[in-house]
Amino acid sequence: MAYSDKVRALYQDQLKAIQDAGIFKMERYIHSPQAADIDVEFPAGSSLKKVINMCANNYLGLSSHPDVVKAAHEGLDSRGYGMSSVRFICGTQDIHRELEDRLTKFLGTEATILFPSCMDANAGVFEAVLTKDDVMISDRLVHASLIDGIRLCSAMHDTFKHSDMAHLESKLQLHADKRLKLVITDGVFSMDGDTAKLDEMVALCEKYEALLLVDDSHSSGFIGKTGRGTHEKCGVMGKIDLITTTFGKALGGASGGCVSGRKELVEMCRQRARPYLFSNTIAPVVVAGVLKVLDILSLTTERRDKLEKNAAYWRKGLTEAGFVLREGDTPIVPVMLFNAKLSQDFSRALYDEGVYAIGFFFPVVPQGQARIRTQISAAHEIHHLDKALEAFTKVGGKFNILGKTKQEIIDMYGM
Ligand SMILES: *Cc1c(COP(=O)(O)O)cnc(C)c1O
Repeated sequence: MAYSDKVRALYQDQLKAIQDAGIFKMERYIHSPQAADIDVEFPAGSSLKKVINMCANNYLGLSSHPDVVKAAHEGLDSRGYGMSSVRFICGTQDIHRELEDRLTKFLGTEATILFPSCMDANAGVFEAVLTKDDVMISDRLVHASLIDGIRLCSAMHDTFKHSDMAHLESKLQLHADKRLKLVITDGVFSMDGDTAKLDEMVALCEKYEALLLVDDSHSSGFIGKTGRGTHEKCGVMGKIDLITTTFGKALGGASGGCVSGRKELVEMCRQRARPYLFSNTIAPVVVAGVLKVLDILSLTTERRDKLEKNAAYWRKGLTEAGFVLREGDTPIVPVMLFNAKLSQDFSRALYDEGVYAIGFFFPVVPQGQARIRTQISAAHEIHHLDKALEAFTKVGGKFNILGKTKQEIIDMYGM
């Protein structure tokens, strides 16, 4: 069957249903580099508007940092634009090796392997190190890319309730007969901004002889005293068997990711992980940029310290304004709205007030838990945060949700 009118109509109906539900995702075109202030075309075709960006993963403000851009230029000049190869054929340069060694030092692990993205790292790691005789036990709120990687692996899969250590322990007991048990969690959970209880998880893994994998994409570079990640914050550096993380967030924000951990497990990824073996090597320009980011982070903790101060200021301001927030102490501050359409209308109204913050709803978050996920950056100055607080307060008043409880908001707008 060709792409007949009937087939076309089928998809048109599906798309219309998404539009009618008020949850059609519209991209906004940014005409400037990633920063606290961005020039945006939205809706498509309208003139540019300068808005404050409150939803980038640019935690450390390094995405457009002049030193990173300069290092990337130099990488481009000295190592070329592309490698036209995967790593094991002819896609490994000296700087790929250097970046792996630098990440190993930074994360406090034994070895590191680069991947085209953290999505790819998560897609490849499980099948590379586990077999059907093993079990994967994951937190129920782990990132979509971990779920996909788990699906691609022949080991058995089980879950435990979000951050529920008693439930995890019961699952470790239940699967005592397996060859290997691998516990899987996000370090900082991307949608809620809460931190995994890594100290307790390490203790449980030691007690039941299980391995532990932590996806630290929303932590690497800024969580912990020197920004090494959740394992630093929780006092368990050197005790995490596998860390996966991205360079697409705090670490310059371009692209790329890695698996870092026990050297035999990393070597298994090099031999077996399919996204590593069958997808192109990270471009030299990106490698050079990430190397510079690690230089900057090893000189001073100024940026992560500023980020921490900014996040506390923002959380306090929103709380005082009367919003329902998710508890936490990270730069991810979700403003809960519960209803999907409200999250879209709220986001649109914020935009009219000069603030760029996207509303999230199912399937990105569970049904009935729609929200505006705000993310703080070291690139924000207090005047950005004050202006954004003013906009949030104005829009919150307009929708009459300030000082209202979760139940009152749901009564007004539905789930
Ligand atoms: C963003 C994210 C990823 C994906 O990272 P990419 O490098 O963009 O593929 C993976 N895991 C978590 C927890 C993330 O937040």
